[in-house]
Amino acid sequence: MSMKPSMIRPPLSTTVAALPPSVPFVAPEAIERRTGSPLALRLGANESAFGISPGAQQAMRAAIAQTSWYADPENYDLRAGLAAHHRIDIDHIVVGSGIDGLLGLIVRAFVEPGTHVVTSLGTYPTFNYHAIGYGGTLQRVPYAADDRQDLERLSQNARALGARLVYLANPDNPSGTCHRAVDIDALLNSLPPDCMLALDEAYGEFASAEEVPTIRTDDPRLVRFRTFSKAHGMAGARIAYVIAHTDVTDAVNKIRNQFEVNRVAQAGALASLGDQTFITSVIDAVAAGRREYMALADRLGLPTIASSANFVCIDIGGADRARDILARLQRHGVFVRMPGEAPLSRCIRVTVGTAPQRAQFAEVFEGIVKGSS
Ligand SMILES: *Cc1c(COP(=O)(O)O)cnc(C)c1O
Repeated sequence: MSMKPSMIRPPLSTTVAALPPSVPFVAPEAIERRTGSPLALRLGANESAFGISPGAQQAMRAAIAQTSWYADPENYDLRAGLAAHHRIDIDHIVVGSGIDGLLGLIVRAFVEPGTHVVTSLGTYPTFNYHAIGYGGTLQRVPYAADDRQDLERLSQNARALGARLVYLANPDNPSGTCHRAVDIDALLNSLPPDCMLALDEAYGEFASAEEVPTIRTDDPRLVRFRTFSKAHGMAGARIAYVIAHTDVTDAVNKIRNQFEVNRVAQAGALASLGDQTFITSVIDAVAAGRREYMALADRLGLPTIASSANFVCIDIGGADRARDILARLQRHGVFVRMPGEAPLSRCIRVTVGTAPQRAQFAEVFEGIVKGSS
């Protein structure tokens, strides 16, 4: 039998050929395409309901006119602004297109086929996606009984496996739970000397001071991730950064896509960083929204998990019941998500919306829980 030349292709790399097909995120847009109708409420992806800083909008509009030019590949102005904000040297910062992209660079820098990495079973999944994509061997540690990530077991596993990388989101997604800064420091100290801690602080702005370790750049085993997607409300602009020892930032600079971050995003992020009044107002509005969701659940006799982020997990009592509530919410055009793994899969995760959005959610949710719809 003869094969047409067009049917021949080189084999995929061993690592990629072994990957299972996966859809890590089903987007609200995909739901709208499937149902053929627009969603009424978009509270499933922890996007900010409070928009972006007016100053950031203005800066982004001005930058559009210069979009014919490549953006500064060094992201210099933004890094200088971030360095002043965090009181660190500019060399400790690398800007990238979202934490999701930066996680890929850190994984690529430390993981090759067979490298062990450790994360929590059911936590934010992008780290896993990259770790598997670079051929790493993933160990997933179950959550502790208090719905928090089990720092002790993460560390034990890292030591037992000789892991090179431990991933921890703090505050965590999807639980919303958070560990104290002193416990994060203790985790770092307990890891083997050749193991990195990838500390994802996507929700760091919403956490209390005791929950966010002091910014330090002297430990080459710690890499922290911050983003403009959540408190700054710029998820669609794709811009975030890492803070790390120069050993790490030098390595990332060797492999990053130099022109990855666009001009509009750079300008917007810098302006947003300069508008801390706006960010504080978002943080306050989110805290009020969290309290309102907790009060709503309480009224309906449902427990909640204490959250240090911009969403709340409402305990529905079981995964089947949570799935059912999720489907009913979707029939009302309400997009929320639920954690995929026990013990958190007994919950639905609801992003804090504006006051009118919360009222709309409360009405639909209450009707569903009380069995009238
Ligand atoms: C939303 C989220 C991210 C994604 O951040 P981007 O900067 O938008 O890529 C990363 N980590 C966690 C824990 C998140 O919840």
